[in-house]
Amino acid sequence: MKTVELAFDLLAKGGRPVECCVRGVKIVEDDPNDMSVGYGGLPNEDGVIQLDSACMDGPLHRAGAVGCIENIKNPASVALEVLRHTDHVMLVGEGATRFAVRMGFKEEDLNTEKSRKAWKRWRANLNPGDKWLDKDQIINFPEPWRQGDASGGAGTRGAGTRGTGTRGTGFQPVGGKPFHSTGDDFDHIALDSFGNPHTYGTIHCSATNADQDVGCCTTTSGLSWKLPGRVGDSPLIGAGLYCDNAVGSAGATGRGESVIQTLGSFWIVEAMAGGMSPTEACLAACKRIVDRTHEPRMFDDNKRPRFSVTFYAVRKDGAYGTASILKGGHAAVCVGEGATRVRSEFLYE
Ligand code: ASP
Repeated sequence: MKTVELAFDLLAKGGRPVECCVRGVKIVEDDPNDMSVGYGGLPNEDGVIQLDSACMDGPLHRAGAVGCIENIKNPASVALEVLRHTDHVMLVGEGATRFAVRMGFKEEDLNTEKSRKAWKRWRANLNPGDKWLDKDQIINFPEPWRQGDASGGAGTRGAGTRGTGTRGTGFQPVGGKPFHSTGDDFDHIALDSFGNPHTYGTIHCSATNADQDVGCCTTTSGLSWKLPGRVGDSPLIGAGLYCDNAVGSAGATGRGESVIQTLGSFWIVEAMAGGMSPTEACLAACKRIVDRTHEPRMFDDNKRPRFSVTFYAVRKDGAYGTASILKGGHAAVCVGEGATRVRSEFLYE
């Protein structure tokens, strides 16, 4: 909500749509409690946080992107500098970090106590045959200095069901399992059957201004526990975001691999150019994904997808829409005073 409110505020002051989006998502990138984006995002298989982001400017039809950038908490701002200062579109890995440092960004450890703890818990439950002790085998010493800890310390508290844990723009639980809270630091986010936080989580922001110029930005820590070096859809122009100043803007969150393989955001903008409304285009893009997913492992016994994607679209005249594969997607929209939360249309309950 705060992202779109700030973006709207800056647009009203005459900001360029792409920059307003980048500044808006920075609020979430900076938030240590958001485990899907920027600082404190969930790390990869090695426990390292690798971030992906891109932004696109409608009037110039120019884009900037960074993939697998480490130790820099605002990848969207770095992507904007790639767009503004270079003739390239995308920098990755070490080169992206070095570019960021040269542009004045601070290098820092992006893991928080919470993200490190989440990784350790995931690692502990990885494989029954590995040499890491499982969660219920880890030796916990009492921590009398911890407030309210009279017993066994971290990892021994009881589980209880509590809500679905969706939160923030485009945050999508995956797998159709019930999500539960263990009552510890991971309240409010989706947990897998071992109680590990597991997210597909991303922020996308699209904007149009009074002159009907558009811009957009997507930023993420990507799929949690991903293979090192994995790049999702978020920094890929046409996949995790796309805009065309003659039409509008679109973006995606959720299973990046599916979005990449269908070029979802590009397709939505083209579909709007062909006359579809933003919502129709988002729904049709979801359907395109499902229709092109052929592996049985991606569906449950009832043929319901085990994954979701949510699309967001804004037409240059301000019409907007959102849709997801599975019910539960949502977006924040700001067209004047304050943001409102909008439920995404969906294909499957
Ligand atoms: N699309 C992102 C990725 O695949 C993750 C997400 O949006 O949840 O990296």
